[in-house]
Amino acid sequence: MAQDHEYEVRVRWGETADELNDALDLADDYRAKMHAAYRSRDNILRQFDKLYRYHRETENGCACGKTKCETLAVINADWISDLIARVHERDVN
Ligand SMILES: [Zn+2]
Repeated sequence: MAQDHEYEVRVRWGETADELNDALDLADDYRAKMHAAYRSRDNILRQFDKLYRYHRETENGCACGKTKCETLAVINADWISDLIARVHERDVN
């Protein structure tokens, strides 16, 4: 009777440990995916940042020479500039 109980406790404990390990593996997997997503987001923002070198607002339209530049219209969105500024801040720190 007591042995049965002990056996059952050991089985349950083993199952709990397995579940915990599965959960930890899953967490590692998510963390890795999240880091990969951050890296690709950073890479995209760095590409955008390069575009800023050729496409900037000047008194006579865009620095690339066009008065109505489609590229500038895309990269000049505030949320993109904010994200790029944040990447720069992080690079400095
Ligand atoms: Zn341009």
